[in-house]
Amino acid sequence: MISLYDILEAADGQLFGEAEAQIFGDFCIDARRPCAGQLYVALKTEHGDGHHTMAEAVANGATGIMCTHPPTFDTEGLTVIVMRSVEDALLRWARLVLEKYGTTVIGVAGTVGKSSTAAAIAQVLKTHYKVYTHPGGIRGKFGLPLALGRLTKDYQIAILEFGTSQGGEMGVMVAAAKPMVGVVTTIGQAPHEQLGGPEHIAQEIGDMVRALPPEGLAVLNFDDPLARALASETKAPVMTVGLDLAEPAFGSDLLAYNILVDRYKTGFDLRRMSERYPGRWIPLLGAHQLYSALAALAVGMTYQIPLEEGLHALTELEPLPGRMRPLDGLNGSLLIDDSFSANPASVQAALNWLKAVREGQGRTILVLGDMDEASSAAVMTHIQIGQRAGEIVDRLITQGDLAAEAGRTALEQHPDRSAVTLTFSAEDAAKAASLDLGPDDIVLVKGGPSAHMERAVERLLANAGDSVHLARQTDVLDTVPVEHLDRPSWVQINLEAIAYNVRRLKEITGPDVALMAVVKTNAYGHGAVAVSTTALNNGAAMLGVASLSEALELRSGGVAAPILVLGYTPAWAAREVIRHNLTLTLYDTELARAFDRAARDQNATLRAHVLIDTGLGMLGLLPDEVTLFFRSLRNFKNLEIEGLYTELAASDHNFEYTRSQIRTFEGVVEPLLAAGFRFKYIHAANSAAAIHMPEARFNMVRTGIALYGLTNSLAAPLPADFKPALEWKTTIAQVKRLPPGSAIGYGSSYRTSTTQRIAVLPVGYGDGFRRAPTRWKYVLIRGEVAPVVGQIGMDMTAVDVTQLPDVKIGEEVVLIGRQGTRRITIEEAADFLDTNVYEVISTVLARVPRVK
Ligand SMILES: *Cc1c(COP(=O)(O)O)cnc(C)c1O
Repeated sequence: MISLYDILEAADGQLFGEAEAQIFGDFCIDARRPCAGQLYVALKTEHGDGHHTMAEAVANGATGIMCTHPPTFDTEGLTVIVMRSVEDALLRWARLVLEKYGTTVIGVAGTVGKSSTAAAIAQVLKTHYKVYTHPGGIRGKFGLPLALGRLTKDYQIAILEFGTSQGGEMGVMVAAAKPMVGVVTTIGQAPHEQLGGPEHIAQEIGDMVRALPPEGLAVLNFDDPLARALASETKAPVMTVGLDLAEPAFGSDLLAYNILVDRYKTGFDLRRMSERYPGRWIPLLGAHQLYSALAALAVGMTYQIPLEEGLHALTELEPLPGRMRPLDGLNGSLLIDDSFSANPASVQAALNWLKAVREGQGRTILVLGDMDEASSAAVMTHIQIGQRAGEIVDRLITQGDLAAEAGRTALEQHPDRSAVTLTFSAEDAAKAASLDLGPDDIVLVKGGPSAHMERAVERLLANAGDSVHLARQTDVLDTVPVEHLDRPSWVQINLEAIAYNVRRLKEITGPDVALMAVVKTNAYGHGAVAVSTTALNNGAAMLGVASLSEALELRSGGVAAPILVLGYTPAWAAREVIRHNLTLTLYDTELARAFDRAARDQNATLRAHVLIDTGLGMLGLLPDEVTLFFRSLRNFKNLEIEGLYTELAASDHNFEYTRSQIRTFEGVVEPLLAAGFRFKYIHAANSAAAIHMPEARFNMVRTGIALYGLTNSLAAPLPADFKPALEWKTTIAQVKRLPPGSAIGYGSSYRTSTTQRIAVLPVGYGDGFRRAPTRWKYVLIRGEVAPVVGQIGMDMTAVDVTQLPDVKIGEEVVLIGRQGTRRITIEEAADFLDTNVYEVISTVLARVPRVK
């Protein structure tokens, strides 16, 4: 509960207009959510300025606003408080109300387990006190005061999480909250690189421990050397907690021993000095979770709650959403939702639990999303996790680019490749996990917040109603995706759209026609490995690439499926082709002879498809060369001809010509079959023919453009439900007002005619945002068209925003895709550039990061 007068006092603020509401139920910082009766806080963070969305907050029910400058809209009926710094005011307000209410603060810090520990402490203290907790989800120095929004003077004790993402933040939080008790869970690796290594984190967390008063209490994890070392740095009495599994054992003040790990609970005996307390089962999973329980008992003792009573309270503890929470999974499986957060230590702890509880027929399945580690060591830590997972679990399913590193590592060591599946969407991950799932199986789902693995959990639930128990992962202070990017312009890929398109193509072409996903040119700019894996997970049988190097990129990305190299492969590359089990295109006797010899030298067989030129006039044997070619093939014992194919020149608009090509191709195929040649695959159709010309399908189609939800021709439309998968976005880098006659851009070809507002965008032809011979015409800002003005530079482009008052730095700009109700399609962009859709998407250059 927040009082207007406390805010005014803390903020040294001023009312703008009349005060209306004087009491608010809570703070609101996300204007998009319902916030009836709440006080909207117009926070400025590095990701955005809450002042832009004040109107939205009011529309969603906010009755008050804290801001540094008042809104320009009508504030009738609203309480608007203006202050110099909203951020400072929040912190001062926290100090003010805590003092005024006389609430005791218990702070919980550490890199993992803060929320579970806070919940356990509350569970014990609730037996005797009125305890305030906050569900979490907001972090850092602003998160702390915001978490106090519902505090009233009835609460005696507030348990707060002291999570920091920047050095120095802890000191600020401690000064505002003045904790009496400080609990340190673990100091492992931090999820945020800004904090540096474990020593830096220990320093930061130490700021809380050092500030505790002599009449307070520090509860430290004895088994974590850095946490334990903080004992010497505080004036407060220290209580350590530990497990007898750890080294050195038996040193802590409170010790859990005889630990028994079960599928639904964890049992332990408790020792304090020479006193021993007999076993209890508590409904938390994994020995590592006992630290929360022990810390809660330690805090309880300081507040005169006997250990017996504390232990009893803990037997009723409910696991938090997303923290090793057991749920009913599909087909009677046990589903463990650990999707709230992930770092190497917590993944390791979860793996240890899986290892401890597996038994009998049941299999253990780990679904792993990216851990949130932006650091340069991220790849390495994922590789290490992959290694451990490969040793412990029966099946590993990864979701995302970093997790794929873990998957690749596990693939290398696992004798059974099908035990590892790489995926790039929740849908595919859940599908892979639910394959042959049975009642004895355990599926554990884990990943960092930005991996949003709760979406995979949701799909694995036996009862949809259980989705209310899932963690909500929206931390409103970092909803903007750009924070992970090194370029302010990015391509957003919707892999679920690609998965859908693949399934639809399979439906259209039928069960007897195999689907080759054509993923050349970095999957038409969409990202080769992620698209290939998604296509294979959704029904593709084979991949097609243009060159050896593209095939090798897929192999090193962990793709094991058959790959046909559609282009020219020189004979000297035979060794690589054989080593990586690739399939070649052949159309020339001398080349075939050279490959045969190379394969023989290596005692191997080389697989190939023969390409016939039926009228494209590019690569391929001419029909009248076919007989001779196949005659010489009889001598090439180390070549295995798996397929026969041709390429269509105009399948999306000239159907007459296409039909004549098909007839020519049939004229080649039939005599070969009559002569006894057999081919596993015979194929001709690209996307347009696959959809519109059943007679071109034979038993395989090679689809490219349709996978991406696009067509190049009005004459060969896609079914309306196909989904485009690519959006290209950037943000505004600067907004300026230029007087009439000002020149804009290299070459000064454009001059303003009146006073114009110009937004500069950090994107240019160096990103593939083309300049000549014709250029992009407009972009979308706030769902409206903003025309490009002047020449496009290598890194910068100017657009006219005169018609869009008060657009600001940092706002999203759409180059391709939807914004509001308006959309710029790839077809439209192809029109700007006077080219086809293929060129538009495949020429967004590599320096533009792909986000999924
Ligand atoms: C690129 C390519 C395809 C895919 O064509 P789409 O029109 O994108 O479906 C098919 N076959 C070959 C040989 C290709 O090179």
